[in-house]
Amino acid sequence: MLGQMMHRPLLIQPMMAYAAAYHGDQELVTRCVEGGIHRYTYRAAYARMGQLANALTRLGVKPHDRIGTVAWNTHRHFELYYAVAGIGAVCHTINPRLFHDQLTYIVNHAADRFLFVDLTFVPILEKLAPHLKGVEAYVILTDGAHMPQTTLHPVLCYEELLAPEDGVCEWPEFDENTAAALCYTSGTTGNPKGALYSHRSTVIHALSIFVGADGRWLTTKDSLLLVVPMFHVSAWGFPFMAPIAGTKLVFPGADYSGQALHELLAAERVTFTAGVPTVWIGLLGYLREHGLKLTTLTRMLCGGTAPPEAMMREFEQEHGVEFIQGWGMTETSPVGSLCVLPPAQAALPDDARYRLKRKQGRAPFGYDMRIVGDDGAILEHDGTAAGELQVRGNWVISGYFRDEAATRAAMDLDGWFRTGDVASIDAQGFMEITDRTKDLIKSGGEWISSIALENSVIGHPDVSEAAAIARPHPKWGERPLLVVVPKAGRTPSKESVLAYLKDKVAPWWLPDDVVVAADLPHTATGKVSKAQLRDRFKDHVLPTA
Ligand code: ADP
Repeated sequence: MLGQMMHRPLLIQPMMAYAAAYHGDQELVTRCVEGGIHRYTYRAAYARMGQLANALTRLGVKPHDRIGTVAWNTHRHFELYYAVAGIGAVCHTINPRLFHDQLTYIVNHAADRFLFVDLTFVPILEKLAPHLKGVEAYVILTDGAHMPQTTLHPVLCYEELLAPEDGVCEWPEFDENTAAALCYTSGTTGNPKGALYSHRSTVIHALSIFVGADGRWLTTKDSLLLVVPMFHVSAWGFPFMAPIAGTKLVFPGADYSGQALHELLAAERVTFTAGVPTVWIGLLGYLREHGLKLTTLTRMLCGGTAPPEAMMREFEQEHGVEFIQGWGMTETSPVGSLCVLPPAQAALPDDARYRLKRKQGRAPFGYDMRIVGDDGAILEHDGTAAGELQVRGNWVISGYFRDEAATRAAMDLDGWFRTGDVASIDAQGFMEITDRTKDLIKSGGEWISSIALENSVIGHPDVSEAAAIARPHPKWGERPLLVVVPKAGRTPSKESVLAYLKDKVAPWWLPDDVVVAADLPHTATGKVSKAQLRDRFKDHVLPTA
């Protein structure tokens, strides 16, 4: 027997319709890329989304078309999130920090029809444009007064595109499983892979995280500084969570310096913020240097990389800010766990409490986690056994966008997603990442591919074999250490290896240290054993650390 309840589709646009109707006067504040501060309300934002939706339709955008954004966190990017998805098209957020060939691949693979670009990124797009075959026009996210001279063609001005349009839009209703947003993850070998979120997955993710956060999340009394970039997994879902909670939203634009963030935190009386550890290290440095305290902030979410314990303690003990660690992935929308302590654990003495807070946390309702041994056995949740973390739930990908090989590699036979993280889970459900099976280094929240580094150095005349591993770094979380084995009778120097790599990889990929070793540990199948290598260098301190 079926239940007899209505079925209303879970769509994204109604989240803003709700905010406009119920929290219409709540503010959205942007530090503009052009300079200055922009303010308006949810009511005004919703009308602009209507104008943008009408403009997109006038441009010929159809349901399921991909619309790319190369943009900072601003009110305009926020408008794109809702207007694009609201007409049934797909908002494809592009990470401008990727390499040029990755960006070209992503835009072409997604078949983006239009690209909405912030002023900062116009020079990058000018270089790539000849290779972006399907892009019909570039829209610069600015007003007429700030339109740049550009070789991009055809080029449109965002504000001029919106100006003639009516803010009233006939928002269509469609299947909740329709694709809403697309985000590529990179860094592993091979091409970037796309996670294609649906309206349903986005709404369920937003709702579920409120429950998982055990009352720490957003309310009408909060002011949220959105530091995590909107080109990174929908800024962890906050652009969808803030409107339904009626929370004030503050967008930092292009300036992520400690000073700029502190100014916004203070001026906008921010109570909640979210971002990766590297940004917070910059902020803490600024606060220390100027003898400043955070007076309005009460909670913060930090994830993307394991945050150092010293940083958690400083925020909590010096500034009275509850520090919440989160774990997630592009493939999981992204939030998979939050480390919020229930009362009994929150009352533990400091050392035991921070021992727990270093863990990545517990899954919210609707998200299943398991750990699997090398032999495929499902392991105990005893806090000791460690295996590959696998997850499933309504906001986890069921496959990669148009990439069957990557999908086959990532999905377990019984439908669980293989995260490539190695973890233990304790009896209370606290998950702790202990290692990684994916061969990557995460620096400042961005991936460096170990394999690409190794392949680049292998042409060096004195190097026969090489392996890159992550080592901890106080500012960047991790930085690469490159271990090279010399060819017989040769002695490669660190300087010559770095000089050799200089024009082959991005400057921020260059290893922080190069060590010459007689050999590398290998597995039975002849591959370099990264686990053994990491163990061999577990006490190695980078000269930059
Ligand atoms: P995000 O944009 O959220 O960083 P990515 O897909 O780029 O998502 O990276 C996901 C990976 O980052 C995870 O599989 C894990 O290796 C790492 N990661 C994310 N959060 C944490 C955390 N809190 N602690 C340790 N590693 C983390």
